[in-house]
Amino acid sequence: MKLLLVLALTGCATSRYLAAPDGPMHQCRLPVLIATSNNVPASDRHFITEAIDWWNFYLGYEVFMDMGIVPFPPDDLRARSLVGVGTPLNYTVKATTVAQTHLNSYANGCISYAYVGLIRPLGTLTTHDAALVVRHEFGHLLGLKDATERNTLMHGYIPDTLTDKDLLEVEHYALKLFY
Ligand SMILES: [Zn+2]
Repeated sequence: MKLLLVLALTGCATSRYLAAPDGPMHQCRLPVLIATSNNVPASDRHFITEAIDWWNFYLGYEVFMDMGIVPFPPDDLRARSLVGVGTPLNYTVKATTVAQTHLNSYANGCISYAYVGLIRPLGTLTTHDAALVVRHEFGHLLGLKDATERNTLMHGYIPDTLTDKDLLEVEHYALKLFY
């Protein structure tokens, strides 16, 4: 099963909260090993560690483990034992796309391989937006889907700059089913 989740200025509309092509996709209580590609500028890497810390604090345990910097892009075959984050080698996106997450799962719904593609360099966004974009994509790694409600981290648009976004109660419950 393959699923592509895109964060774009135009957004992606769905009212479902868990990525579910044939049933909920999630990490099956396994830690997610995050490898940051060396094509992420050094000045942008703290957004990734901040997102790891944010989700670990939110869920109350180390669901994300920071494996540091790796010398290949996130969609490189060598990244497949890890979740790569960075600019992918091969991507076709709309001009408005900021970031996208690719998920593949086993038949039982456990995510087998994923990567987070940072299409637009984080440094071209405001600090606030860059932090929320990475948090949003990491939410996909846990199985959360884009939400239609604007007042959530998992909304498919670049977040508003004025509010700090958390998860909806229903998203929180969806996560708690699996984590
Ligand atoms: Zn999304």
